[in-house]
Amino acid sequence: MTTTPRQHPETICLHAGYRSDPATGAVAVPIYQTTSYQFRDAEHAQKLFALEELGNIYTRIMNPTNDVLEQRMAALEGGAAALATASGQAASAIAVQNIAQAGDNIVSSTDLYGGTWTLFAHTMKKQGIEVRFVDPADPEAFRQASDDKTRAWYAETLPNPKLQVFPIAEVARIGREMGIPLIMDNTAAPVLCRPLEHGAAVVVYSTTKYIGGHGTSIGGMIVDGGNFPWEDHKARFPLLNEPDESYHGAIWTEAAKPLGPIAYALKARVTLLRDLGAAMSPFNAFLFLQGMETLPLRMREHSRNAQAVADFLKGREEVTRVIHPSQQEEKYRKRAETHMTGGFGGLLGFELAGGAEAGGKFIDSLKLFYHVANIGDARSLAIHPATTTHSQLTEDEQMSTGVSPGYVRLSLGLEHIDDILADLTQALEAAR
Ligand code: PLP
Repeated sequence: MTTTPRQHPETICLHAGYRSDPATGAVAVPIYQTTSYQFRDAEHAQKLFALEELGNIYTRIMNPTNDVLEQRMAALEGGAAALATASGQAASAIAVQNIAQAGDNIVSSTDLYGGTWTLFAHTMKKQGIEVRFVDPADPEAFRQASDDKTRAWYAETLPNPKLQVFPIAEVARIGREMGIPLIMDNTAAPVLCRPLEHGAAVVVYSTTKYIGGHGTSIGGMIVDGGNFPWEDHKARFPLLNEPDESYHGAIWTEAAKPLGPIAYALKARVTLLRDLGAAMSPFNAFLFLQGMETLPLRMREHSRNAQAVADFLKGREEVTRVIHPSQQEEKYRKRAETHMTGGFGGLLGFELAGGAEAGGKFIDSLKLFYHVANIGDARSLAIHPATTTHSQLTEDEQMSTGVSPGYVRLSLGLEHIDDILADLTQALEAAR
């Protein structure tokens, strides 16, 4: 079925990229658990390798099950193409490495998932890519931190623990003035926010979270918006505009022309996925497709439960602060409202008056919530960052990331709200 951007997310998530299996007529997307694909003849093989014809060669680079997931994600975001990866971490790394090499820099928001932070601050630094961190409170900080070696800006739509929506539209507009693409990690807000509509050039996901939705599989996705004029900025993007010696001199902006505005996605697939090998397993792609079928429904329900919990916690004497877009000062609340539709997602934080000790007791008293570092599961999840994900930081460093000693993060699941509130109530009482 052809899906147009005018279709709604509920329809796209069920139909985009697939009608039935061309070989068998199967309505559910089959799991093509194969490494390789028989070429029709020598000429066919030659054309595939020369990119004169698109087709399956080897599952490290493409796979029919993954292809449906990629098309579906691209359609959901309103992008031109997508690339499935083995994890969200692989998606972030490849998204940057695709346009930045040793000697280059990118500018990133300081409000980042910890794994992305270590990738940027340590691993990429060792590989010669400098990541300059700026406070997203001032969109102009991105401009000020950039120079002619800046290849991209990077941020998360709804970063936890602060849960202040990133000013996508404002920063993307400044970036486009300067010829710098904005890469948005939209892991926490699929369906609710479509960063490309606000001017982002690339969207990345940890599909491990809400896309899968059931806590079964690790995966990632890069969506190429097809909306960034790489060719207008030849000096800034030599990796897309100059001959690539790793692919018989291909110039990606030229090579992609017959296929559409997909130079960025095409290069990532046939060079970085080929060389680094961080491909998604077709079995996981199948599970992500299952997850996607109910994604819009789930995001609505996660959002509704998180909102109800925010309202409930506001009135509790054990709680000194509730961290949720609905509870923020007007500037951030308004920004959340302009960037997100249908809810603010399933994440929520709160601070316990009793500090770290109360945080530990609260977590240990939960019976329904799972105590895990993950987010985006159908089940409700909780963690006390000061003693887990943020325990390597000093207390001052923790505070600067928004984690006070009594901070608890919740990822609200799909259980009945009365059962969620009952579990929270008994754990709050036990933590007094
Ligand atoms: N981005 C965000 C916002 C995340 O929350 C995570 C994982 O927690 C990642 C990226 C990394 O994804 P993965 O764990 O699938 O590698």
